[in-house]
Amino acid sequence: MEFPSLKSWFKEDVNYPFIIAGPCSAESEDQILSTASYLRSTGKVNLFRSGVWKPRTRPGAFSGIGVKALKWLQKVQSVYNLRVTVEVASPKHVEACLKHGVDVLWLGARTVSNPFSVEELSEALKGVDIPVLIKNPLSPDIDLWQGAIERIYKAGVKRIAAVHRGFSPFERTLYRNMPKWEIPIELRQRIRNLPIICDPSHISGRADLVTEISQKALDLTMSGLMIEVHPHPSEALSDSAQQLNFDQFTSLMETLIIRKPTIDDKGFLNQLEELRNQIDSIDFQLIELVASRMNISGKMGEYKFKNNVAVLQMERWLEILRTRIEHGTLLNLEPAFIERVMTLIHQESIRIQSAILDNFKTTGDHWSEEQ
Ligand code: PEP
Ligand code: MN
Repeated sequence: MEFPSLKSWFKEDVNYPFIIAGPCSAESEDQILSTASYLRSTGKVNLFRSGVWKPRTRPGAFSGIGVKALKWLQKVQSVYNLRVTVEVASPKHVEACLKHGVDVLWLGARTVSNPFSVEELSEALKGVDIPVLIKNPLSPDIDLWQGAIERIYKAGVKRIAAVHRGFSPFERTLYRNMPKWEIPIELRQRIRNLPIICDPSHISGRADLVTEISQKALDLTMSGLMIEVHPHPSEALSDSAQQLNFDQFTSLMETLIIRKPTIDDKGFLNQLEELRNQIDSIDFQLIELVASRMNISGKMGEYKFKNNVAVLQMERWLEILRTRIEHGTLLNLEPAFIERVMTLIHQESIRIQSAILDNFKTTGDHWSEEQ
């Protein structure tokens, strides 16, 4: 598969990094036009984004304005001279967007998670020459992401970029979605000339973390950023915590350190750097996992205190060791290595539980149902 670089997507030159910005959802004509007016004035934005049909996890949430909002986006194009992009999840959406002259389509994480939907969209896109952004699926399944890219490519669409928006966790993590940077890096190794854009708004879920994730993406030489911007984020009808207000967007643009001066999609990091970045990402996830484990150890300490159970349960520990070594062996890890790692983790867990017990004892604090 050969993908043209973002630089050649449109007739005019585009900035590096390729910035896509706009509200999560179109809510009113005024909200769309004031955001477009501001974004235009920054001179930094290549593409104006806005959700028109919103896929909501739970029923009852704001599900988008629909076709009426496409007319507001036409004003964004004509009044502010900005290209626009909209999420499509069905052939009907594609048809409406094409009818209203939307410049770029995007496939959302939920849609990419479903090969039936992607197949239908690829049918609807046959013979249509429009750029398409393809977000990663909700789960960290790189084959599913790659499969969606292949399906859309097969329809004849060549101007494709992947959008990394993180992966849904069950556990509560610092970010709304786990970045798992090793996955977009691996995707880039599999498809060398595919442009990849990062969506720090959906990764972070929090406006105050958007800058650090954006910088990380640029340091990994991703080609661009998709940022949610809203005139009054606290009043937004969707994703209110993560949208930037105008001042925050301005300061983000001023803060970012751009290490690659050209939008050269082939100018990736060398193989060693890419592998190091994958290791870094996995190490941080290891630490987060260890932290979640220690958190549970703390709860066990309280429980054991309440029930007057000794901290160290020898049989349980031997069982842990045996099953972890067995599991490690299946993954080609040395038994002695797993034993060392588990012993360290277990020692720390015992230390935490004992500290909790001591604390209860010395403060005379008695654990009760109310606490
Ligand atoms: C969005 O961009 O507003 C959106 C719904 O994104 P995602 O598909 O990444 O959740
Ligand atoms: Mn959103």
